Amino acid sequence: MAENASDTSYDLIIIGSGPGGYVMAIRAAQLGMKVACVEKDPTLGGTCLNWGCIPSKTLLDSSEHFHLAKTRFAHHGIKVAGVELDLPTMMKRKDEVVSGLTKGVAFLFKKNKIASIRGTGEITAVGQVSVTAPDGSKSSLTTKNIVIATGSASVQIPGFAFDGKNIITSTEAIALPAVPKRLVIIGAGVIGLELGSVWRRLGSEVTVLEFLDRIAPAMDREMTSLLQRSLEKLGLKFQFTTAATSAKVTDNEVTIDFKQGDKTGQIKADVVLVAVGRRPFTTGLGLEKAGVKLSPRGFVEVDAHYQTNVPGIYAIGDVIGGLMLAHKAEDEGVALAELLAGHAGHVNYNAVPGVIYTDPELASVGKTEEELKAAGVQYKVGKFPFAANGRAKAMDSTEGLVKILADAATDRLLGMHILGPRASDIITEGAVAIEFGASAEDLARSVHAHPTLPEAIKEAAMAVAGRAIHA
Ligand code: NAD
Repeated sequence: MAENASDTSYDLIIIGSGPGGYVMAIRAAQLGMKVACVEKDPTLGGTCLNWGCIPSKTLLDSSEHFHLAKTRFAHHGIKVAGVELDLPTMMKRKDEVVSGLTKGVAFLFKKNKIASIRGTGEITAVGQVSVTAPDGSKSSLTTKNIVIATGSASVQIPGFAFDGKNIITSTEAIALPAVPKRLVIIGAGVIGLELGSVWRRLGSEVTVLEFLDRIAPAMDREMTSLLQRSLEKLGLKFQFTTAATSAKVTDNEVTIDFKQGDKTGQIKADVVLVAVGRRPFTTGLGLEKAGVKLSPRGFVEVDAHYQTNVPGIYAIGDVIGGLMLAHKAEDEGVALAELLAGHAGHVNYNAVPGVIYTDPELASVGKTEEELKAAGVQYKVGKFPFAANGRAKAMDSTEGLVKILADAATDRLLGMHILGPRASDIITEGAVAIEFGASAEDLARSVHAHPTLPEAIKEAAMAVAGRAIHA
């Protein structure tokens, strides 16, 4: 059961092998610790690799190719006839991508001599973890430190009992056996917009019911308004200020009841995807018995060094709250490994980028305009549209813009928001700039290769001082 585990005593036991847990395991092993990682699922990598980021991005890329072949190839002078969807092959490719990456984590564990222990971990006392293997057998491990990296699970709303077929979570939505004719999505957050795009491109009629008056409420409103327009052009239908209240399945058809202010309404679907957020996953961990304190919303409470109220028990990633993002969990894992090894380790939460992988993509780092206004910070704005960027024109992908927010007095970069092609890749320039405390002028004076998409960042930075060249 315990691969590589010649004995059962460790410096560090990590429960959970998602991006937080597995990255921390590798960094801790590099720093000389004897590490075990306990994972209840058959493959390593957690939600991100198995059912989250990786499979959804794979389907986003595949569905985008399909959509472009049908709608944009002719414009490029490429004649294609009889474009057809082969969903089983698309899903098989996705499964191969996932399997390659989860096997890659197993390889890295072996390479770094990390004991990969299959089973459900329970903290029985400080320094003690009991593991129940899939066959029900139990083993007891001892360790100097325990890290909870168990991630999160989909939030369930009353009246919507998941059945895995007609009322589903994102886990099933990345593996549907056929394209649903009518897909209703509850929640216009990241999952709703990404998976709504996938299935719309593959042919579903997609309606999104959102409680608030806008999509992606945590992002800059100007940018989300523009993204909403692009998604509506793709064919997504939004109903805002709408609370989904219940769903009933009859003969493979779901009837969803909702409330819109004083009014009530109904909508029918073949499949309803509930994407209203994720909750910390702490089931079966023995936290109550171990005396580990949880917040009122069920997150594991930690101090600035990721230690819980119980010395020797730490937590990172989705289970501690904040941004529920794989890269935030990874960086927390690295920081905690370094802290446990006696080094300095920290995460700059102000420089964590967030991305919605739609078309165009929306990426953001630092503050939004709404946050700056609420905090009373005086700021300057520079914007530059991709319609005036040579590379975006060459790519036939000119929707969107770069918006830069800089401190009015010091010119320090406070926020960067990008709606456009490959925003996910080029937002890194903003994250690095914020990390280094750069000013808008620093970005404006950095040489950018031509023709490239990041030239739009340079131009937006120049626009902060009213001197964009190509606008
Ligand atoms: P989310 O928090 O992004 O969005 C949930 C949305 O559901 C909100 O807009 C909320 O107002 C709405 N909502 C809540 N209750 C509702 C109701 N009863 N009726 C209608 N609308 C309702 O959550 P998500 O999209 O489920 O994503 C979960 C987590 O996973 C997020 O924290 C996200 O950051 C992460 N994630 C990230 C990525 C990425 O980085 N690209 C991709 C997928 C998921």
